[in-house]
Order: sequence, then C-alpha cells, then structure tokens
Amino acid sequence: DEGVEVSIGTSTLDGNHVLTELLRTGTGGARGILLLHKSEASGPFDPEHLPLLSALSTHLCTAVDNATLLREIHRQATYDDLTGLVGRRHFLSEMKRERERARRENRPLSLLMIDADNFKALNDNHGHPAGDAVLMALARELVKGTRAVDLVGRLGGEEVAVLLPGATNELAVIIAERLRSSVQQLKIPWNDKVLGVTVSIGVTTLSANMSSMELLEQADQALYAAKDAGRDRVVSQYKLEPVDTGS
Ligand code: GH3
Ligand code: MG
Ligand code: MG
Repeated sequence: DEGVEVSIGTSTLDGNHVLTELLRTGTGGARGILLLHKSEASGPFDPEHLPLLSALSTHLCTAVDNATLLREIHRQATYDDLTGLVGRRHFLSEMKRERERARRENRPLSLLMIDADNFKALNDNHGHPAGDAVLMALARELVKGTRAVDLVGRLGGEEVAVLLPGATNELAVIIAERLRSSVQQLKIPWNDKVLGVTVSIGVTTLSANMSSMELLEQADQALYAAKDAGRDRVVSQYKLEPVDTGS
C-alpha cells in the first residue's frame, strides 16, 4: 500500500527487536513478508540465528506457493474457463448433496436442463468466437435471472443446468419460462452485428425414491421433448406420486 514502508533486516519497533525478511523463492519474486519480534527484555536477534531464519523464510515461501497452487488447481477443477460457471463435476456433486438435503428436510428440489437452440448453425454462420461470446452472454443472463441459492452449471458444450433448491415444479416452470424469455430478448453485440439466441428448457422435480441421476435423466427427456416440439420453449416432466388415501 502507498505510505507503508518496510525495511528489510533487523531494527526496533515500539521497543521490540524486529527481524523483517522478504519471503521469496528462486522464481517470481516476493510472496510476502516475515516479521518476527523479540521482547525488549530478551535482547536483539543474535546474528548467528539469521541464516536459520532465512532458511525458515524460504520454507515458508514454498508453503505459500503450494497453497496458492492448490487454490488455483481447485479453481480450475471447479469452474469453466469460458463462462465462469461451475463445471459438470462440481454441479453433479452439488446435485447429489442437494438431493440428500431435500429428502432430509422434506423440501422440493427442481432441475432445469437448458440447451441453446441451433447452436451449430450460429457457429457456422458467425464463427466459433461469436459462439463463445453468445455462450458467455447466455451464462451471465442465467446467473442474473436466478437466486443466490440456485446453482448454474455448464454441463458441457452449449448445455447448462440450473438446480433450484426449495422450488416446486410449478415454481420451476415459472422460473424456466422467465429465463427462456429473457434469453430470447438478449442482444449480443458481435463486431458490427447483433446476435441473438434461444434456448429449450426441460424441467423436472424430485419425487420420492428418485436418485440424482434419475432427476438428470428426466430433465434431459423434458429437454428433448422441448426440442421436438419446436425449440425456444419449456417442457416439464414431472409425475406426482400417487397419493395413498388409505382406502
Ligand atoms: P439443437 O437445437 O438441437 O440443440 O441444435 P444444436 O446445433 O445446438 O445442437 P448440436 O448438438 O448439433 O450442436 C451443438 C453445437 O455447439 C456444436 C458445437 O460446435 C457447439 N459448441 C459446443 N461447445 C461450444 C463452445 O464452447 N463454443 C462454441 N462457440 N461452440 C460450442
Ligand atoms: Mg443445442
Ligand atoms: Mg447440446
């Protein structure tokens, strides 16, 4: 920060003896600062200890590098580079977790399967980078149109899924229709053109004894039905459990 000055070496601060070391390894420069202090009573740092402290700072620096690397690996494994949405693996594991939670708490859980319509043609007509720009805009629109508790994930290609914890089938259909409509109205600037895109959406809702894979399959079937029916539409596949009336 501006105005902060750090002097490297031994000095005193508020009557305490201070050793300041720059944390660095062979590559990439400084990673941080190691600040050690001894109380006034125990006297200054012994020059004999300085090489040991330097060695310690090198080890600390390696630890900082490892932690940074781990965080980066985790980020890459979780998020999709193009859209910034979570990727397939993370989405599926969150889906399993939300299914357990929904069963335990006896709350509804719905899933939307969303696929961009005629996307191959869009790539063919305007080029792959244009397709990428449209996918980014689509992802942004879906995130904007959902709540913070909802999870939007890119399952692959031009296919995105939205997990809606707490949403009944009725609500999920309303949300899906709202998303479909807002995507349809998107105007995506690309060079001197304005591109648009539509999506087909399959909706399903967890019912008793349904596995998370079955939930996914049902949403997929609903999506296919939406494609078959002409695209740019929402289809829900959800069968209410037969109610035991006790008769
Ligand atoms: P449908 O309405 O039936 O879904 O038709 P479609 O053309 O969207 O479906 P199809 O599966 O035939 O083609 C999907 C296209 O999406 C083909 C593929 O090149 C494109 N695609 C997948 N991932 C990406 C991407 O990351 N960027 C771009 N630009 N295109 C992608
Ligand atoms: Mg498609
Ligand atoms: Mg597809």
